[in-house]
Amino acid sequence: MKCSCYLRSADRAVKSKPLRKIDNPFGIRSVPFPKSIEMKIETLAVHAGHAIDPATGAVAAPIHLSTTFERDIEGTYSRGFMYTRNNNPNRQALEEGISMLEGGAAAAAFASGTGAAMSIFQTLAPGDHVLAHIDAYYGTSRLLREIFLRWGLDVNFIDMSDLSAVKNALRSKTKLAWMETPSNPLLKIVDLAAVAEIVHDAGALCVCDNTWAPIIQRPFDLGADLILHSTTKYFGGHCDVLGGLVGTKTDNDFFRRIRSIQYSGGAVPSPFDCWLILRGMRTLPWRMRAHSENGMKVAEFLAQHRKVACVHYPGLRSHPGHEIAGRQMSMFGGMLSFEVKDGRDAAMSAAARTKIFTRATSLGGVESLIEHRASIEGAGTSSPEGLLRLSIGLENADDLIEDLDQALG
Ligand code: PLP
Repeated sequence: MKCSCYLRSADRAVKSKPLRKIDNPFGIRSVPFPKSIEMKIETLAVHAGHAIDPATGAVAAPIHLSTTFERDIEGTYSRGFMYTRNNNPNRQALEEGISMLEGGAAAAAFASGTGAAMSIFQTLAPGDHVLAHIDAYYGTSRLLREIFLRWGLDVNFIDMSDLSAVKNALRSKTKLAWMETPSNPLLKIVDLAAVAEIVHDAGALCVCDNTWAPIIQRPFDLGADLILHSTTKYFGGHCDVLGGLVGTKTDNDFFRRIRSIQYSGGAVPSPFDCWLILRGMRTLPWRMRAHSENGMKVAEFLAQHRKVACVHYPGLRSHPGHEIAGRQMSMFGGMLSFEVKDGRDAAMSAAARTKIFTRATSLGGVESLIEHRASIEGAGTSSPEGLLRLSIGLENADDLIEDLDQALG
């Protein structure tokens, strides 16, 4: 894929000097930039996928609503666009932007995270075997159970935080391992590098659903071949746009099949949705830092609350995956869950009493959300009845703590 340039040409001369070294709070390596500029992650998030509009000089990118694009005199499409289902300038900018941020080779954007997950499974053939984490997002396991078993995929759900379970579940027909860490809703931690090594030795590919930990966890550096994002969450960041994305470490045949499912299948995002998600990305590193700081404070508060039986947050030393999370995450994120001592009814009434937390599903927005997972997941849920999941937003943590305290009573 052709890379557009991301800085004004006048700025490049100035910016191509070595940049001042600054502390990198995310512990993430710098990413090489065209013209040899090494950009830190905050800088990259602001500039990747963005260019000054050559026609008008507009600093904020225009939205290209056109569904169709003009051929040249020779009848070709030298400007690179033909029909918006196949490609669109806003979608291309989003794909390039997220791909640069994750350190991958290419990406394909979809209309939702679920649409992106579908494309990965549709790339497989009947008879292929998939290993999936038992505590993966319930919509992903529902996809596998309700759609792809009938398609002929063979699926095993296993606890991937147990490496011997991963080894034992591998088969000669295993083509893909689906990792998700921290997982949903129990925030189990999967050792990405260790699982990737085992799965690669068996000749299969590794996907990591990195929806809960963009920026603060770098799956390509830890061995993942593909990354999935529900960009509905932290990338969009404001609960106002649905989207999904598959990123690939190398532009190989497997990814080319995903690309063809994207434009032949047509589950593509609108230009405006792409624009919103790319705009959200510009503040993502700073939001992830604030989500993580607030998440840690709320987790510490809940861990000592008399009405709380346990807290699932990898930033707490008591969490069984704390050490691995500390190695593979630069911060612990804004998602956590906790179990109240008195079970389902007590959990439901605490959720009903919050004043700042909104009782709603989803995550990753600026506002804090609280949700009783077992009731939304329904029959077959692995979520304990007393569990409440929190998406910690960007309010002041003291206000969130006061709200939870009064709600728990
Ligand atoms: N992956 C994870 C970890 C999620 O939490 C979700 C949605 O909550 C999805 C995938 C699916 O994303 P979408 O709702 O955009 O289809």
